Amino acid sequence: MPNRKPIVGGNWKMNTNRAAAAALAKGVVERIGTQKNVDTVVFPPFPYLLKVGGLVTKSTVALGAQDLYHEADGAFTGEVSAAMLRDCGCTWVLCGHSERRHVIGESDDLINRKLRASLAAGLNVILCIGETQAQRESRQTDTINIAQLRAGLESVTNDEMANVVIAYEPVWAIGTGLTATPNDAQAAHSVIRSTLVDLFDSEVADSTRIQYGGSMKPSNAAELISQPDIDGGLIGGASLKPDDFSLIVGAAAV
Ligand code: PEP
Repeated sequence: MPNRKPIVGGNWKMNTNRAAAAALAKGVVERIGTQKNVDTVVFPPFPYLLKVGGLVTKSTVALGAQDLYHEADGAFTGEVSAAMLRDCGCTWVLCGHSERRHVIGESDDLINRKLRASLAAGLNVILCIGETQAQRESRQTDTINIAQLRAGLESVTNDEMANVVIAYEPVWAIGTGLTATPNDAQAAHSVIRSTLVDLFDSEVADSTRIQYGGSMKPSNAAELISQPDIDGGLIGGASLKPDDFSLIVGAAAV
């Protein structure tokens, strides 16, 4: 039985302000700042990275960014490089979140460039994949997940996979209050893990953590995370409430 340490991320999206971000970070650290059985990462908005980083630095909570640009530096107005994120104390970054794919319009190719630039700079990456409602209704869940996985992980080596986590986030479940059933989520995760065998090998597939995301909350976290191929959660809405986020981390620790 592979021994994968659970990982729970809190994606704050474009929420909070300077004071609220600090209060949220303090609340999280107070509740779960010494939790060692779960890797916990918060993803504040860019302007609050330094402040939040300072607040989590002596805890077991890691700092991540919600996005980056793949170029190292130069004339890319508005963009932020992997090195800048490292410089601000980030050890994690999200790539391919569904809001980047479907609201901002990022392509698989761009997501792959971002992922590879992150790994090259020494960041850990959570690669988000998942099908839309229409794709689910036309029974394309696995096809979409496999395609996004293949494209997102193009040219990534077996060794580099030690720094990659996959988040399966069905788009129809994100921020909607709808959640995949534990069985449906497990089925998707199992296909994702099999795809990692094809793309890499069984050692990589067994050791890669696959989070579920999509309206995970304290009331459904334990059942989802207890599925054999679900290794934690990527949390949006509930990560803005320190009590809820901490309960989810606690559920992953069991
Ligand atoms: C997310 O943003 O990745 C997410 C899963 O959001 P929510 O938990 O609000 O559905």
